[in-house]
Amino acid sequence: DTLIVARNLSKVYKMGEVTVEALRGVSFELMEGEMVVVLGPSGSGKSTLLNIIGGMDKPSDGELFYMGTPLHSSDGKQLTSYRRNEVGFVFQFYNLLPNLTALENVLLSVQIARNPLSAEELLKKVGLADRAHHFPSQLSGGEQQRVAIARAMVKNPRLLLCDEPTGALDYKTSIQVLKLLQDFCYTYSKTVVIITHNAAIAQMAHRVFYLKDGRLDRIVENENPLPPE
Ligand code: ADP
Ligand code: ADP
Repeated sequence: DTLIVARNLSKVYKMGEVTVEALRGVSFELMEGEMVVVLGPSGSGKSTLLNIIGGMDKPSDGELFYMGTPLHSSDGKQLTSYRRNEVGFVFQFYNLLPNLTALENVLLSVQIARNPLSAEELLKKVGLADRAHHFPSQLSGGEQQRVAIARAMVKNPRLLLCDEPTGALDYKTSIQVLKLLQDFCYTYSKTVVIITHNAAIAQMAHRVFYLKDGRLDRIVENENPLPPE
């Protein structure tokens, strides 16, 4: 089924005299259980696009539907509910709270969720059952990112949005994190969108969106998405 429909999205930032067209007429659909990688040079509009899909920002023009619900005309309260219940976010620098343990970081998301999963089960799933009571500073970068993925998933969102999730990790650790994201996509039929600079990641996605100067330049489909090497 179709999860997201975007039609002719544009985003204009105005700063005094300066106007930036961050997105220009971007249209696409995202299917349930699909993994999409967004590639493009710095400044091409990747983060802007992810923020709009995630309900953190609104398009200047165009339409965006989530399971038929128009997000482009939703008010702040509706967008907050959408972000809390339907979307999981994963960031480059993990954004864990330093004074909370791994388990407590995950549990924090449980409190705001409508249909939460078990935090303990998810920590086990990401391979960190024995790290539940460690603080972020006691965990490696890869472990912190896996906690962040558990935190995003515990809300049981249909959509998982990842902004450079492996940007701060070494190659081997990146692969572990990507395999985890792919596993959630395949096993639980989550829609996963990953922004990256790393073209090698593209081979594991069902589709690759290439952004250029705020336009969706082309979409490439992979018949057989590969697990990362
Ligand atoms: P990417 O993620 O591909 O690097 P961004 O979406 O961050 O690209 O940015 C796209 C363009 O929009 C850039 O020119 C950037 O400077 C501009 N931009 C992004 N966010 C803002 C903002 N909050 N205010 C003004 N300009 C912005
Ligand atoms: P990786 O090989 O995944 O990059 P590290 O070599 O950084 O991991 O860490 C190896 C192990 O040591 C990890 O399991 C982590 O839990 C533990 N560890 C890393 N940094 C600290 C720390 N500052 N305090 C306690 N344990 C740590």
